[in-house]
Amino acid sequence: MRWIIVTGGNLSGLGKGIVSGSIAKLLEPNKIVNVKCDGYLNVDPGTINPFEHGELFVLEDGGEVDMDFGHYERFTNHTSKFCHNITSGKIFDAVIGKERKGEYLGKTVQIFPHVIDEIKRRILAIAQEEKPDVLMIEIGGTIDDIEESWFIRAVRELSNEYKEQMTFCHLAYAPMLSAVGEVKTRLVQTSVESLLQKGIRPDVVICRAEKRMSSDAKEKIARFCGIDVKAVVSDPHSETIYDLPLLFEEEGLRLYLEHKTGLKTNPGLEEWKKQVEGITQTQKSVRVAICGKYTGLKDSYASIIESLIHAGALHKVSVGIDFIETTDICTQEDVRAKLQGVQGIIIPGGFGRRGTEGKIQMAQYAREQHIPYLGLCLGLQIAVIEFARNVCGLTGANSSEFVEEGASVIHPVIDILPGQKRVNQKGGTMRLGAYSAMLQEGSQVRELYGCSEVSERHRHRYEVNPVYHEILEKHGMIFSGYSYDEGTKLVEFIELPNGVFRGTQAHPEFKSRLIAPSPLFVGFLRDVVGKGL
Ligand code: GLN
Repeated sequence: MRWIIVTGGNLSGLGKGIVSGSIAKLLEPNKIVNVKCDGYLNVDPGTINPFEHGELFVLEDGGEVDMDFGHYERFTNHTSKFCHNITSGKIFDAVIGKERKGEYLGKTVQIFPHVIDEIKRRILAIAQEEKPDVLMIEIGGTIDDIEESWFIRAVRELSNEYKEQMTFCHLAYAPMLSAVGEVKTRLVQTSVESLLQKGIRPDVVICRAEKRMSSDAKEKIARFCGIDVKAVVSDPHSETIYDLPLLFEEEGLRLYLEHKTGLKTNPGLEEWKKQVEGITQTQKSVRVAICGKYTGLKDSYASIIESLIHAGALHKVSVGIDFIETTDICTQEDVRAKLQGVQGIIIPGGFGRRGTEGKIQMAQYAREQHIPYLGLCLGLQIAVIEFARNVCGLTGANSSEFVEEGASVIHPVIDILPGQKRVNQKGGTMRLGAYSAMLQEGSQVRELYGCSEVSERHRHRYEVNPVYHEILEKHGMIFSGYSYDEGTKLVEFIELPNGVFRGTQAHPEFKSRLIAPSPLFVGFLRDVVGKGL
């Protein structure tokens, strides 16, 4: 097994996840397992507000993990597991749990050795279980963050044993001084210096910069780090993140890694190149709206944005996105004003009451004006509430999630799942992960997916209340996919006969790939293109 360790210096947000995903892409078809270490004390990011931390990514096994797993899966199409996201929260929780059970036999429990050992134990357990060709470990944040220090120490200790098999890749920012017109290398050197102080010498230095590094700049960094100049690689701005494996290929990184690790890799990435051209060589453009509550931070909707890019690449259309905050939307007039120039509406996942009345107005507008609509989880629930109120005449229809605790809803068309009634802890307790659904013969979703049974990932507590299935169907809402939970029939997909209005209780955005766009997003954009142009 080979090890690739990805660290970042001098700034967070440099795109280590995209770099790790791109390196994994270069090393395909070897079996690669991506591990991410995150310093925060939350056991998992499931309890972190997307405003704080960006999107929460959901895995097949129901793990709620860092959004970088989205990049790993999207670049490589492999499937990660919850235990591959090692957080300080998980580590400390385990160590303190063992201490309470007396497993440390009277010792003083400390960061060194107990916390470090727990990290190493988990990393080695993943290697043991997965037996990958490459175990790639990304350390979150920057190497100087206090909460990453135990992870840095753990990989350094592992390198005592596995030095020959390890490649350290360090990503650092090389700013461009526009007045001088050149990329400056000093910050990269400072960052490498800091890594050296921690006992780690990078084998590869990746420079995040506005443009490619000159050979002079590369020489300077190589000399400073004592590495081959071929191991200094540019990570310049590009039109799309999916370009990065191609840029790395041009920079010679694949060949360098092949030489350093002895792994066999595939040259060319021809297939990938064609798919990326779908993004960069578009023939049309459309605008769609994402109507949510976390519109201030685009990272909150990362997988939806990527899914639109994937579907856009297939249709050769570029997709402009208007992020619309719905809290102030009260009337159809408000909706009309907000949707100027927009040809499709997505209501993404979300929690709590705020903004839901505005979303219901959006769904009404989409239904009445035949604007393509895609409801994702909460977006399905909103569409059902709107339909119940305005088509079935169920005045006061709502979700029991959207009222004060203790208050009742006249028509709870969306209600808590039976399995959720006894739950009183927040973390990791929703209906999470992959569940399959049977799709109805002749339905739009069946046509889009091209099969009768599909599996998508979930993250919710509420569902379409079975008491209202009949009345909703009688008025023309089509429940085109079902699954079963503790014997209850759960609505997984809905659609309207107008052919451009669909929703799912799942989150298909978590499975969309450039090489395999999500059928629901493909269908949505097909409708948008048909409408708007
Ligand atoms: N809040 C809703 C529920 O829990 C929707 C969740 C979501 O959109 N992910 O069911």
